[in-house]
Amino acid sequence: MERYLTPEHVRLQERVRRFALDAIEPVASELDETGRFPWENVRAMAEMGLLGVPVPRALGGMGLDDLSYILVVEELAKHDASHAITVSAHTTLGTSPILSFGSEEQKRRFVPPLASGEVLGGFGLTEPDAGSDASGTRTRAVRDGDGYRLDGSKIFITHAGVGEIFTVTAVTEPKRGARGITSFIVCKPNVELERARSVGLGHHDGLPFTEGVRAGAREDKMGWRASDTRELYLENAWVPEAQRLGAEGQGFINFMKTLDSGRIGIAALSLGLAQGAFDTAIRYAHEREQFGRRIWDFQQIQFRLADMATELEAGRHLTYHAAWLKSRGRPFSKEAAMAKLFCSELAMRATLDAIQILGGAGYTSDYPVERMMRDAKVCEIGEGTNEVQRLVIGRHVLQEALDREAARGPISAREPAGATAPW
Ligand SMILES: Cc1cc2nc3c(=O)[nH]c(=O)nc-3n(C[C@H](O)[C@H](O)[C@H](O)COP(=O)(O)OP(=O)(O)OC[C@H]3O[C@@H](n4cnc5c(N)ncnc54)[C@H](O)[C@@H]3O)c2cc1C
Repeated sequence: MERYLTPEHVRLQERVRRFALDAIEPVASELDETGRFPWENVRAMAEMGLLGVPVPRALGGMGLDDLSYILVVEELAKHDASHAITVSAHTTLGTSPILSFGSEEQKRRFVPPLASGEVLGGFGLTEPDAGSDASGTRTRAVRDGDGYRLDGSKIFITHAGVGEIFTVTAVTEPKRGARGITSFIVCKPNVELERARSVGLGHHDGLPFTEGVRAGAREDKMGWRASDTRELYLENAWVPEAQRLGAEGQGFINFMKTLDSGRIGIAALSLGLAQGAFDTAIRYAHEREQFGRRIWDFQQIQFRLADMATELEAGRHLTYHAAWLKSRGRPFSKEAAMAKLFCSELAMRATLDAIQILGGAGYTSDYPVERMMRDAKVCEIGEGTNEVQRLVIGRHVLQEALDREAARGPISAREPAGATAPW
């Protein structure tokens, strides 16, 4: 991977690795069991700058490139996916829409508290009737004076409870379908104010809190249990025009762009999970003896580990390449979908394989691999299900084939049909 990584990347990786070993690994299992949000570690991550890695320094971030951010998410996920999704959802879903599509005033007002980790952010797209088909958004935004009145609800929203700044979509022009969707910045107070205050972050008094925006009950999830997921209600919530993000009708297209970036983050998170499971399995295989030999001497175990290592290498190339394209301003939508698709499925395979290598021990909470398997599953669902990733990739490859065909000129001017197939 040296071709992608600079000495600064390696140093950042090492810093996050040490933090994850010291502060995350000892509490990961307890957090999974209790579902407690890890405010103490969020504070530590904020102090390290990890909640604003790709945000420009002028807005309070670390000013690093996309690959740096990807490395942070991957490193955290090797030890705990809940910490990794907290950083990932906050950065790509919470902060980046404002950074990418906000006015200078919106950036100045909302990005610094997000980038410093003073408050957490999130993104509300999914609704009860609009999941994979996000264009089916029902939340309405109706003009009212100098602003809009929002009504509706968003489900499965990461940080809906513990976060304070959100970008949400709502329909401003119902007849225009996806082109009638607009996005807005809304603020609500953290529901865990006391706990957050005790660690010294999680709330910013100066935010324009919107009456009528509130969080529902915490979802009881299979994995990512220490990550906060809830419904976000928008009830007769009046939002000033100054908090409309981008032009009317741009909300859907902007969210799609946000998801392209988010997918590289989920790929990195999946990669970290797969690597964490692999590392546990290889250590165990080296220690465990059966039939008078270490189990890694058995060829079936070696082959399983060899396949895992090969797929990890492939997944890392896909993910780092997508981040590399993004940081150079090149198109990366297809590559991000490929990385997310491949790595999330790899995370499922690798965590299941790790459980198999650990045998009965892998099926208990004495080892982290069963938690990693539960954490991996949602990577095939969030930020566009893997069926949706295949649709995205399919559209890209078909378009590329059509473009190649068009570049070859009209059929009549070419060699006999069938001599060279476009596929
Ligand atoms: C832990 C967690 C955190 C989340 N965080 C957020 C968040 O912060 N913000 C946010 O907005 N959302 C969030 N989500 C929502 C997530 O993005 C959606 O769950 C996801 O997009 C799928 O939507 P859905 O659950 O409604 O499934 P559905 O769209 O109902 O899909 C059900 C099944 O049908 C398949 N399907 C649907 N359409 C097609 C098609 N055209 N072709 C083939 N198959 C299809 C799907 O792939 C899936 O297998 C989160 C979800 C979870 C579980």
